[in-house]
Amino acid sequence: MRKPCDTMGQQQNLFDDQQAEWELDAQQQRRVASIVIASGPDGAFDYDTPEGFCDAERPDRLLVPGKRVSVPFGRGNRLATGYCVAVETKSVDPSRLKPLARVLDAESLLSPAMLRLTRWMAEYYLCPWGQVLEAVVPAGVRSQAGTRQVKLLHVPPDVKARLGEIKLRSKQQAAALKKLATSDRPLTATELAKEARCTTGPVQQLLKHGLIEATAARVVNNPLDELIPDREQPLELNSDQQKALDATVAALDAGKSRGLLLHGVTGSGKTEVYLQAIEHVVSFGRQAIVLVPEISLTPQTVRRFRARFDSIAVLHSHLSNVERHLHWQKIARGEVQVIVGARSAVFAPTPHLGLIVIDEEHESTFKQDSAPRYQARDVAWQRATAEGIPLMLGSATPSLEAWQRAQDDPQFELLSLPKRVLDRPMPDVLNINLRDPGQAKFGKGGISRQLHQAMQVALRDQGQIILLLNRRGYSTHIQCPGCGFALKCKECEISLTYHRQHNAALCHYCDHEEPPPKVCPDCRSPAIRYSGQGTQKLEDEISSRFPQHTVVRMDTDSMRKHGSHEEVLSRFRAGEIDILLGTQMIAKGLDFPNVTLVGVVNADTALHLTDFRAAERTFQLVAQVAGRTGRGSKGGRVLVQTLQPEHPAIAAAARHDYLGFAAAELASREMLQYPPFGSMARIVVRGPDEEITRATAEQLADRVRKAARELEGATLAVRVLGPCPAPITKLRNEFRFHMQFQSATIEPIQLALRSATKSFRAPAKVRWIVDIDPWDMQ
Ligand code: ADP
Ligand code: ZN
Ligand code: ZN
Repeated sequence: MRKPCDTMGQQQNLFDDQQAEWELDAQQQRRVASIVIASGPDGAFDYDTPEGFCDAERPDRLLVPGKRVSVPFGRGNRLATGYCVAVETKSVDPSRLKPLARVLDAESLLSPAMLRLTRWMAEYYLCPWGQVLEAVVPAGVRSQAGTRQVKLLHVPPDVKARLGEIKLRSKQQAAALKKLATSDRPLTATELAKEARCTTGPVQQLLKHGLIEATAARVVNNPLDELIPDREQPLELNSDQQKALDATVAALDAGKSRGLLLHGVTGSGKTEVYLQAIEHVVSFGRQAIVLVPEISLTPQTVRRFRARFDSIAVLHSHLSNVERHLHWQKIARGEVQVIVGARSAVFAPTPHLGLIVIDEEHESTFKQDSAPRYQARDVAWQRATAEGIPLMLGSATPSLEAWQRAQDDPQFELLSLPKRVLDRPMPDVLNINLRDPGQAKFGKGGISRQLHQAMQVALRDQGQIILLLNRRGYSTHIQCPGCGFALKCKECEISLTYHRQHNAALCHYCDHEEPPPKVCPDCRSPAIRYSGQGTQKLEDEISSRFPQHTVVRMDTDSMRKHGSHEEVLSRFRAGEIDILLGTQMIAKGLDFPNVTLVGVVNADTALHLTDFRAAERTFQLVAQVAGRTGRGSKGGRVLVQTLQPEHPAIAAAARHDYLGFAAAELASREMLQYPPFGSMARIVVRGPDEEITRATAEQLADRVRKAARELEGATLAVRVLGPCPAPITKLRNEFRFHMQFQSATIEPIQLALRSATKSFRAPAKVRWIVDIDPWDMQ
């Protein structure tokens, strides 16, 4: 990846006149640093390392890979921050390299293994290496948040000799010197002045005369303090869990990388397997990383980890920069046994990683939707391979990518937990066909007669209910039946959703809001209709159907405050809430034994997406929410309202039939060469002018087609689809066009895209992104 140095010849040459003779002798053994500019062009640039940064006796100034540096960059030699990715002693003409200006970090931020991982990401996701490095090292670590630079004073060993030469001017100086000499720790100037009961003046005088010395150090402002729940003992595993654990332990002991897909139905005790596998890891003094889809949605899982291990770091999105920095340092020192966190925890700087676990590996949150657009599952596998450790993926509804890999790839192994713990049955699932007039909705609203009755029964028997509706807001459409007008965002091609709380029509993509119209803005008809049920309207409906019961809504609107999930979930656990309704955030991972009924108000919401994964998402959502019931001795049932009960995804979810669903869906993916049978990438081009944006997209597509043709060998065929308007044609006043690339493997796509985009310059205001292995197809 190394590029020729862009700075050659710009360095001031003291020996200009003697250039011809000098050149022969100019070669010297120098330490040459490869520097990746943090927000600069891709690639590494060579710099000369001045003597001052080569002294092994001064580790804080010594340049080693993984430290950041300040370097003169570009024509104007402005100082830029870069990451040192390699240091090599070689024979060069130092006058042809610029010297680096400063070493910014006292300690390396990235181990050689992490540097290799970031480089892999840069190459795989076609993203500048510097951008990856900036994403991997948290901002709080880069700014050393929560620490401050202080000067610590101490008495030099030869103070006696020096005292002979210099006479102390005042009593205060003598007092200060004595205090420092007898102090059991170094002091700052302020501390010393305080102890010696003087101002800092005498202290400064002592410093000036060399009677005391100062060294720079960083001290931590406020230490971390975390709640530690009561200790819990490991549970006795059932035979399926034991088999899965044995296989995992065997993989751990083999000391090789290995992929383990733990497919366990909801409530089968996957978490217990992770916990005991990690105990094994920790007993050898190694660390484990556990990735969860979203920390705030999984307080129970986090609590279980805290109750099992002495030292765990929970990396959630509400950490301050200071906390993030302190965690990072503790992790890097090897003081943390288990790191639990979302996607980016895959970069935790553990010194002796033993295992990576990804819980609910099918979740979309493992894919980052801004650059670098990485999939944490694939980065984790890359890291596991490099460090020779197992990667465990757990899910009741594995992604088809993971599932297929477990069948095909000899490095992967499938571990199954086909039954729930304690022989609890899976809940009965009943599909309610909303097209069937016999199942007509009961009164106005979204709840069918059958679902209403099931709710009555559940509540009568003191059970709790979870209702899923994957659309937030009150009304999801505002339309005029007279002229066909539909209220859309002014800046996006998106229908506005009516939110009753703010009494506003909101765009869910750009936060644009406007007053809800009382008459049709087009034809002035007062008959304008607010239709389509969102969670707010459902909340009203349920409250009026069951006025004596407590109903709480959980969606991004009601859960804005930090800690509100935890609060609602603990009230639900305590039985203070009878009915919990919400979007997909209630579908995941919750384990409440008293939930005896789950209702899916509309299973079809995801099926309309123009996305090859629509069926998979629907299956996952329905199967996951169904798994929230029947977890206690009372059992449980699930009612799924749908307009398409015969749809294979919905029918299979009702049968708890992952295998059947996977087989059918994989067959159709294979036919179309969609992932996991082929690889895919996407480019999205956006800009304020529709025609210029379209033309740019077309140019890019032509370049990719040409580059693909130039690749050698027929097996490397890359299919280019598009460009065409993206499913969301306009967003925040920008038109969007996209194109899709497919091939048997990802490499030819990467090659073609790299060569097509290398020197591509889009017109002003037009931007484009490359997404490798895209998840979001909107
Ligand atoms: P999953 O992650 O597969 O949904 P969990 O690990 O959350 O399942 O387990 C579901 C419930 O079963 C938890 O309350 C857990 O404490 C309990 N459990 C797990 N394993 C066992 C076991 N071997 N014996 C008894 N209870 C268990
Ligand atoms: Zn109208
Ligand atoms: Zn908008």
